[in-house]
Order: sequence, then C-alpha cells, then structure tokens
Amino acid sequence: NIMFFDKIQAAPADPILGLGEAFKAETRPEKVNLGIGIYKNAQGETPIPRAVKAAETRLLAEEKTKNYLTIDGVAAYNAATQAMLFGENHEIIANQRAKTAQSLGGTGALRIAAEFAKRQVQAQTVWISNPTWPNHNAIFQAVGMEVRDYRYYDKNTHSLDWDGLIADLSQAKQGDVVLLHGCCHNPTGIDPTPEQWDILANMAAEKGWLPLFDFAYQGFANGLEEDAYGLRAFAKLNRELLIASSYSKNFGLYNERVGAFTLVADNAEIANRAFSQAKSIIRTIYSNPASHGASTVALVLQDPDLKAQWTDELDEMRERIKTMRQKFVDTLKECGATQDFDFIVKQNGMFSFSGLTAEQVDRLRDEFAIYAVRSGRINVAGMTDDNIRYLCESIVKVL
Ligand code: PLP
Repeated sequence: NIMFFDKIQAAPADPILGLGEAFKAETRPEKVNLGIGIYKNAQGETPIPRAVKAAETRLLAEEKTKNYLTIDGVAAYNAATQAMLFGENHEIIANQRAKTAQSLGGTGALRIAAEFAKRQVQAQTVWISNPTWPNHNAIFQAVGMEVRDYRYYDKNTHSLDWDGLIADLSQAKQGDVVLLHGCCHNPTGIDPTPEQWDILANMAAEKGWLPLFDFAYQGFANGLEEDAYGLRAFAKLNRELLIASSYSKNFGLYNERVGAFTLVADNAEIANRAFSQAKSIIRTIYSNPASHGASTVALVLQDPDLKAQWTDELDEMRERIKTMRQKFVDTLKECGATQDFDFIVKQNGMFSFSGLTAEQVDRLRDEFAIYAVRSGRINVAGMTDDNIRYLCESIVKVL
C-alpha cells in the first residue's frame, strides 16, 4: 500500500463547536454553557416549539411519498421565505425578481452564495465585518475569494464603529461582495440604526457592490418585520442582492438544516437565468435538499393558526432573552461589579460581546466550569434564574 493519509495534519477544532464538545465532557455539576448559539428556555432546555411539533405531527400523518424534491426544494417553503424576507406583496415578489432555493441551513445558503458570486459574478473579494461569525471567513476562503474586513466594533464605547466601518467600506470596489448581518450581529449583538442602514444601502447602490445578507436571526431583535429593515432598505435601492437566511434559530429547527438561498435580479427573466446557475452549483454539491424541516416550516407559515402560535413562541424567546440581559446587568452590579455593563441591555439577539478577555474566559472555564467563546462572546440565552447568581459571582471574581 502507498499511504496518503498519514501525511495529513489535524485541523484545528472549530472555536465554537469544539466548545460544545468540551462542555459535554465537563463533569462539574455547576457547569454553565454560554458558548454555542442555541436558544434555551427558563429551564435551560432547547425545546421544539409547539407550532413546529404540531406541524410535524400533521406532516407525518399526511405525507405519502419520499420521492426526491427538486434541486431548489419545497416550492411552498421558498415562497413563504420570500414573504418573510421582503414582506407579503412586495414588488420584488409581484415581479418575480427573486428566486429562492431551500438550502442546508444558513451555512449551506452562504456556501451557495459564495460559489455563485465567485463563478457567476467573478467576484474576487468579499468584505466581512470584524469581528464576525468565524465561518464567514472560512466559507469564502474555501471558494478562493479574498477576504477583507471592515471595522465594526468599538471596544471602548461597546458600540458600532460607524466611522471605521464607513472608512473601510469606502475601499470596497465595484463587484465586491459586501456581507452584512441582517440583524442580531454575531458576535457583537450590535446592529446599524435604520438611518445607518439607509446610508449603507445608498452607498452599496452608488459603489456597485454585490450585497449579501446573512439573515440567521430574524425575529430575535425586535420582531419579524422590524428585523428586516436593513434588508428591505437595500432592496429599495439595489436591484441585485443575495440573501442567505435560516430558520435554525427562529423555528428551533437546528438539526433539520433549514435555510434558504435567495437571489434578487433586475427582472424575472434575468432572475431565472441566474438561478439556473445557482441550481447547477447545488446539483454538484448535494443534488437536492431534505424534505422534513422545510415542509414543516412551510406548513407553519401557511396555516394562520400555526403561524400565530409560532410568532407567539418567537416573541416569548425574544422577551426572555431581553429579560435575562437586564437581570445579568443588575446581578453583576449586586455582585459588586464596578464596571459599567449597561451596554449589554442595548444589544440584540442571543449574543453579547461581554468585554471579557480571552484570559478571563479561560479562568471562567478552569475555575468555575463556565464556558464561553474566547472572544468574550456570551450566549445570553444560556442564562437562567438558577445559574445567573453563580455566573455573575464568578465573573466578578475574574474581572
Ligand atoms: N450566520 C450566522 C451569523 C450564524 O450565527 C449562524 C449560526 O450560528 C449561521 C449563519 C448558520 O446557521 P445554520 O445553523 O442555519 O447553518
């Protein structure tokens, strides 16, 4: 035998998923997981939303075949996704300027978008916020694009580095992809204001960027419609867009891998032509997607009762996180923190950029069995009434 594999070097552990494995292996009973971005309820569980369970039950009773889906997946799901993104009856939908393919989570949609931008638009460069979800860099590097970053976060004020962002994005050239987080920026929890979105949308149109929205947390900042402000501001001024959206979080369907790749073109004919190339890309990666998760989402979004139930449950998730943000800040104060943590209350979504250093995060893990990402990102949804006191006491000890 000639051996090839023995020369392979081990890949570094994923900074976020690796943390989950370490947490599983942790034996101290007081352990707290603020790492991976999953929602947890007041009992620390990640339940299946009741609307989802009801739709799944119906689906299992009624489905008659396991025949292949088409390359772009469940048609009703794709249509419902467009309504979520742009709003019912949006001009883009009426004029059939958007085409959507069901994808394997938001990650799968991002990969399709990256392949599409590289192969069909000949985009060489993508601009990504610094910091960002680490997989963004990896996905675009995987397709051979140059990754550049734009400033996003001001450490001193714990807010958006607007001047830095504008200065850096001023260097983005025509045809560059500019990646934006639709809402609940990961990891900082800081989003542009509506006024800032308008300015960015205008800048994109003037400079001729290809905007790519990563929309993984719709409904977690202020509400389904409110959270689409940035995307819709771009859609007003930019005739072409790419969107990678996900239902992993807002439907609690993490392991069913339900996302969507959407492209918006100037008219229906161009959209169809461009989309045929996106379908070729999909065909050579996984041929066609799985049915269960997307059929479940489609059923919930098409049924007024299930939809109402789901939006209630989504509201509940969002409100719980907001409540925990406030409790976290209050409890830190009670535990004697002298630093000001009020900025945490203003952040959106599950994540908070706590300002903890990598060394402090390491100490929390080693001394207190509290797990967080070394960037200082903490998942606020991991906090419960049972663990918040212990968590804050421990944090104050490492500050
Ligand atoms: N984009 C961002 C910013 C995320 O935080 C995540 C998930 O953590 C994703 C995309 C991917 O979501 P999915 O699990 O649907 O692939």
